[in-house]
Amino acid sequence: MSETIQFRRRHFPGVSAREWNDWKWQLRNRLDTPQRLSRILDLTAPERDALTRPRRTLPLAITPYYASLIDPHDSTDPLRRTMIPTVSELTRTDGECDDPLGEDAHSPVEGIVHTYPDKVLFLATDFCATYCRYCTRSRVVGGGELPPAESRWETGLRYIEQHAEIRDVLISGGDPLTLADSKLDWLLSRLRAIPHVQIIRMGTKIPAVLPQRITPALAKILSRCKPFWLSVHFTHPHELTREAGTACARLADAGIPLMNQTVLLAGVNATIATMLELNQGLLRFRVKPYYLHQCDAVTGTSHFRTTIETGLRIIDGLHGHTTGYAVPMYMLDAPGGGGKIPLSPDYIVSRQSGTVTVRNREGKHYTYHEGTARSPSDLAPSV
Ligand code: SF4
Repeated sequence: MSETIQFRRRHFPGVSAREWNDWKWQLRNRLDTPQRLSRILDLTAPERDALTRPRRTLPLAITPYYASLIDPHDSTDPLRRTMIPTVSELTRTDGECDDPLGEDAHSPVEGIVHTYPDKVLFLATDFCATYCRYCTRSRVVGGGELPPAESRWETGLRYIEQHAEIRDVLISGGDPLTLADSKLDWLLSRLRAIPHVQIIRMGTKIPAVLPQRITPALAKILSRCKPFWLSVHFTHPHELTREAGTACARLADAGIPLMNQTVLLAGVNATIATMLELNQGLLRFRVKPYYLHQCDAVTGTSHFRTTIETGLRIIDGLHGHTTGYAVPMYMLDAPGGGGKIPLSPDYIVSRQSGTVTVRNREGKHYTYHEGTARSPSDLAPSV
């Protein structure tokens, strides 16, 4: 018997497999109070302390399914660390702020963030199935300020309609896949009807925390608005369950490209071995590891944030040691809205006129002789 079934029988006796696999049941029965949580996990003193203090922003909520993946007796369990508040999140350290990416300053109308020239972020809802303690958007997520109302969405849709330079819309939140099928269908159809919107993307953690949501009906709705890309959010190999695999397979079979965005988190996934296992597992799920994000300097997240050197060492430990598809791009989102900046270990050892010396994964050096073309005009065909 799987651990998830044992968990259901122990903590939700009388609940059938059918109810458990109903995503709406999962949302209705989220663990969202200290009392409900303490019936399932042995809470530590710092966790209890954090749970009983008034929180400024991000609420507590975990789906029963996701809770079944957490070791109830191990306070260092990686998934537990991402979901259960501790007192560390109540302190603010240097350089932290509530809106580290300056999204509010780049919001021309409510629910739209327009930082890059040809793409916008469409904040469809502030609701998530579970609340990640390191969330970049914790200032709004779970607060009820961005309700999934069609009347509110109209403002954002109008803005996109009026800006012909927008060719890419990323629907995010909150988690858009918590919306009802009918609402999603409405929103996607409206976006698809805007002629200059070439691609629609969506960011979601649902396949990891509520895979039951990926129903055949949902996959059909998403596949109707191609070209449509899904950015999923797996952070640790423990999330790669049979249920998550079924959800990803359903999406992939519907022709939806799946890309993963992971946040580098101390005590969760900040080792080469964990990233290797996660990324190789994602490829088996037909998900391309896309970004490894350096954790943003959100207020109360210093206990999650590693040094940049740690991230570079991880990328160095992946590159050349496994399938290239399993190596994500390591990204730092520049504080204040400067955009994403790729970070890479330095493979160039030296440059001289006409030659570049590089190192490989074993530290061996090789010298490459460059060609003679020096500028784009040199590349033009001669007539
Ligand atoms: S699912 Fe995404 S938006 Fe929701 S709390 Fe987690 S990181 Fe934030």
